[in-house]
Amino acid sequence: MSAQPAKKLHQSDGAYQRFYEESIRNPKGFWSRQSELIDWHKPFDKVLDDSKPPFARWFVGGETNLCHNAVDRHLAELGDKPGLIFVSTETDTEQVYTFNMLHDEVQRAAAMLLKLGVKKGDVVLIYMPMISQAAFTMLACTRIGAIHSVVFGGFASHSLASRIDDAKPVVIVSADAGSRAGKVVAYKPLLDEAIKTARHKPAKVLMFDRGLAEFTRVEGRDEDYASLHKAVAGTKVPVTWLKATDTSYVLYTSGTTGKPKGVQRDVGGYAVALAASMKYIFMAEKGTPFFSTSDIGWVVGHSYIIYGPLIAGMSTVMYEGLPIRPDGGIWWKIVQDYKVTGMFSAPTAVRVLRKQDPKFLTQYDISSLKALFLAGEPLDEPTANWISGAIGKPVVDNYWQTETGWPILAIQRGVEPLDAKLGSPGVPVFGFNVNVLNEDTAQPCKVNEKGVVAIEGPLPPGCMQTVWGDDERFVKTYWSSFAARQVYSTFDWGIRDKDGYFFILGRTDDVINVAGHRLGTREIEECISSHPNVAEVAVVGVADQLKGQVAVAFVILKDTTKADTPDKSMAQEGDIMKLVDGQLGAVARPSRVYFVSVLPKTRSGKLLRRAIQAVCEGRDAGDMSTIEDPAALAQLKERVGR
Ligand code: AMP
Repeated sequence: MSAQPAKKLHQSDGAYQRFYEESIRNPKGFWSRQSELIDWHKPFDKVLDDSKPPFARWFVGGETNLCHNAVDRHLAELGDKPGLIFVSTETDTEQVYTFNMLHDEVQRAAAMLLKLGVKKGDVVLIYMPMISQAAFTMLACTRIGAIHSVVFGGFASHSLASRIDDAKPVVIVSADAGSRAGKVVAYKPLLDEAIKTARHKPAKVLMFDRGLAEFTRVEGRDEDYASLHKAVAGTKVPVTWLKATDTSYVLYTSGTTGKPKGVQRDVGGYAVALAASMKYIFMAEKGTPFFSTSDIGWVVGHSYIIYGPLIAGMSTVMYEGLPIRPDGGIWWKIVQDYKVTGMFSAPTAVRVLRKQDPKFLTQYDISSLKALFLAGEPLDEPTANWISGAIGKPVVDNYWQTETGWPILAIQRGVEPLDAKLGSPGVPVFGFNVNVLNEDTAQPCKVNEKGVVAIEGPLPPGCMQTVWGDDERFVKTYWSSFAARQVYSTFDWGIRDKDGYFFILGRTDDVINVAGHRLGTREIEECISSHPNVAEVAVVGVADQLKGQVAVAFVILKDTTKADTPDKSMAQEGDIMKLVDGQLGAVARPSRVYFVSVLPKTRSGKLLRRAIQAVCEGRDAGDMSTIEDPAALAQLKERVGR
């Protein structure tokens, strides 16, 4: 199928069109040129091996290293310039590490891991708050060829345990606590509980003690970061050259089943894709700071807090704290103080800022900023309008997923600053042969016709290699949505307009997006079902003004006489919320739990999720001809007050 890029726009000189078309028509030539953006220890023999579709192996035979490209190669030019800028408004700390200092810290972290027995190809799980040591550890892993698997610090013991069992880390690196709005969130008890319940046990746990929460050490297993750090002072750990096709990391993401999928990424393809995206999408300016407000636990944190900016020779701002503490001006103050040139955040954060006093936006000098990039969830028009007006800079929406590792759709201002359209993340990014397909025929939809956003294989460099430890699941999950042919499904509905701009219309599966965090409703349902008095549960995502979506749970109790008693073991709304907090983390907590006696299902027993969601959002429930018990819908409406 031929590429369908954006049509030439008013005053466009066609630069985007030519660039994009070349990337689709001649991917090998295109990516061979982009590969020059990074350092290679050994050149590759073959740009692409796609002999076993849908698996794509990029830069076969080449050898490189992510840490070398992020740190070592900049030392001669930028050694005494900032590499990592750490700002915590939780602990009132600001620390600037030059590239030389970063190089030293990463080598020490690598030396510590080696001392603990970590070898090339071993998995190191990182369960840490947003602190510099987490960045050092990630870079140390990729330096020595260990595979890191970062688990978001907001996840609790059950989520952590399932990831430990799947990733099988030899070492876990963690810290005593995180901090949120000045409140200490202890990590160690959650970690200990997770290791206790997991079948796989790590040999060692390396603990960074911030002095925030006291914790007990497990004799023989737990090691102290500070003591080891001292012991390895001055140790030089050379870069281990890796095959471009080796694995750099595994990052878990939610899908349709309760079991999270480990998105596995390579080394060379990822480095090249990030370097190209920094140049053509994020307009990287070497020697200046890039500030991404995400968390290292998410893909944006991997690509655009750690690797992307550093590979581009930018310093990266790592921020621990809320956007409104000490006040709503804190992010703009950081932009002013460090002369940030690129900033990356999420629409949710902008909606939070919008509620603050507008004076915060005029109080600071943000003239250094070239653009604000937003991703992770749909950017609604009011939010987009407000923020572009307020900062007077281009606001660049970009659409992608954990699986792709970098944007699929965006205005690529480094190629050509095409006009943005409100509500659209833009046009296909070079390398992605993306289309809107009819869900039954797999044929391209007509202009403005709704279909599934899908990508023709082979996927470009930087995208997932496979599902960790499960090639079959990779093929079955992502490449089997259409009977007609093998094509990658994003699981998003979308439309493409006459100018080639895409609009994303929500997920085709049971994944929800809460404040930019991707959650599987099945995972939350499985957690709630573990309550002894819960017979059945349905969790749906419901539109929310601030967070985009929130989870709402409908629960059928086994013993209904127990529902409204004050006895804590009986499953009331608060109990269910606490259960989710403890097992999955507060991020997955339903905003409301309703108790019902029956759930709307079809006569064949399929839950009518879309109908439940529609009722919660005050919309029409749609065609209900297949409903088994119409009273279920009436009860639902009554419960949610619609
Ligand atoms: P994650 O893997 O956590 O990055 O979540 C990816 C999902 O978030 C996508 O499949 C979309 O459903 C949604 N998403 C990400 N970015 C955007 C965007 N710019 N506009 C609309 N939806 C988005």
